[in-house]
Parts: sequence; C-alpha cells; structure tokens
Amino acid sequence: MTALTLKNVKRSFHQGSKDVHVLKGIDLTVEPGELVALIGSSGSGKSTLLQVAGLLDDSFTGDLAIGGKKIAGLSDDARSRLRRTELGFIYQFHHLMPDFTALENVAIALQIAGVGKSAAAEEATAVLTGLGLEERLDHTPAKLSGGEQQRVAIARAIIGKPSLLLADEPTGNLDEETAARVFALFLKTIKSRGMSALIATHDRDLASKLDRQFQLKDGKLVEL
Ligand code: ADP
Ligand code: MG
Repeated sequence: MTALTLKNVKRSFHQGSKDVHVLKGIDLTVEPGELVALIGSSGSGKSTLLQVAGLLDDSFTGDLAIGGKKIAGLSDDARSRLRRTELGFIYQFHHLMPDFTALENVAIALQIAGVGKSAAAEEATAVLTGLGLEERLDHTPAKLSGGEQQRVAIARAIIGKPSLLLADEPTGNLDEETAARVFALFLKTIKSRGMSALIATHDRDLASKLDRQFQLKDGKLVEL
C-alpha cells in the first residue's frame, strides 16, 4: 500500500482565451515513511500538484490514490473524511488564528476531530514541547517569531497523526538560517512519527535531506 500514487495526472487552467497546461502527465509514488522533495521554479506547478494530491482540487484527469484508496468515485463526504484523517498540510504562510494562543491553535485541530478539551491540550502541549515551544504555549502568533510560527503550524499539521504530510514551501518565508533549523526539526519530528511527506521547496540544499527528489519542469516530473 502506497501513501500516495499519482498516475498520468494532468491539470490545466483557463487563462483568458487560452488553456495553460500546468501538469502534463505526472506519475509519482510516495511509500509509507518516505520523504519526497518537489523542486521547481516559481510557476512550475508545485502548488497545483500539492492541491491535487491534497484533495483540494478535483479538476484534474488521471488517477490519484491516498493510502492505497482510489479517489475517483468517492463521495464528497468520503473525500473530506480522508482529507481530515489521512492528510496534514503546511503552507508557506502559517494561517494560524491570530486571536488564539499557540496551544489553542494546535489543540483545536484535535478538538475538531472529536478529542476532549483537556486531552487535546495535553497532546498539543507535548507536540509543541517536542518542537521546542514549551515556553511559548500561551503566546498568540503575533508574539512569536517567524520560525516559531512555522513550528506551531507544523505542530497543528501533525497532531492528528496524518499518514501523509503535504508541505508547500514550509520554510520559504524564513531567513536561510532559521529555515535550515526549522526544516531539520520538521524532518526529525515527522521521521520519528513514521509519516510520509511530499514537500515542495525551491531550496535544493533542504531537498537533498529527503529520501528522493523530483523536479517539476515543463509540466513533467524528473527524478534527480
Ligand atoms: P508554483 O507553486 O510552482 O509556483 P503554481 O502551481 O502556483 O506554481 O502555478 C503554476 C501555474 O499555474 C502558473 O502559471 C499559475 O499562473 C497557474 N495557475 C495556478 N493556479 C491557477 C488558477 N487558479 N487559475 C489560473 N491559473 C493558475
Ligand atoms: Mg507555490
């Protein structure tokens, strides 16, 4: 059973009177526990690919499976359930809720999944502590540095124990040194939890730390 399979995935956009073919037949497999880098210049289609893989875009053709489960033919409900239970997302900009503390931002992800308030807070505290944020639990995002904000976003994405993480330039908004530090911590955390991940980055140094690297170019994937 693979964590993620894409077969001949194509996605185009209408721009004005023409069609822009962004994904022109993507084949990709991510095995359980495997960490895969998606490299490509700006506009090459990395976000488009992650949106498709994350069940956030169904206007594509080709085959997609998550955790061995084929997506074609699933109801909207089944699809959102799969998204909630199997997938975690991290973006370049953290999208944390500004009026909530770090702890609340993370715990709420579990509460939405039905976990009680105190158990959710306990688990969120443990995950945030693992990411070095034990002194920042009560801070709102505005009182956190960029690197700390991204670590909270990582905690929020992994707390529900998704099997597959999709990260879209997760450290792209940080200075080089902070990015390297947060990225290393991110990798350590997901490896220790046995998660698989597809991580878009334009930083080849960071990408080289993953198990496999693919470059998206002219709508196709090339393994590096
Ligand atoms: P990347 O993440 O690698 O920078 P994107 O996936 O965001 O690239 O974009 C790839 C191409 O698809 C770009 O040319 C972009 O303009 C186009 N594109 C992305 N989303 C849309 C959309 N919703 N409508 C029209 N064009 C889009
Ligand atoms: Mg992008």
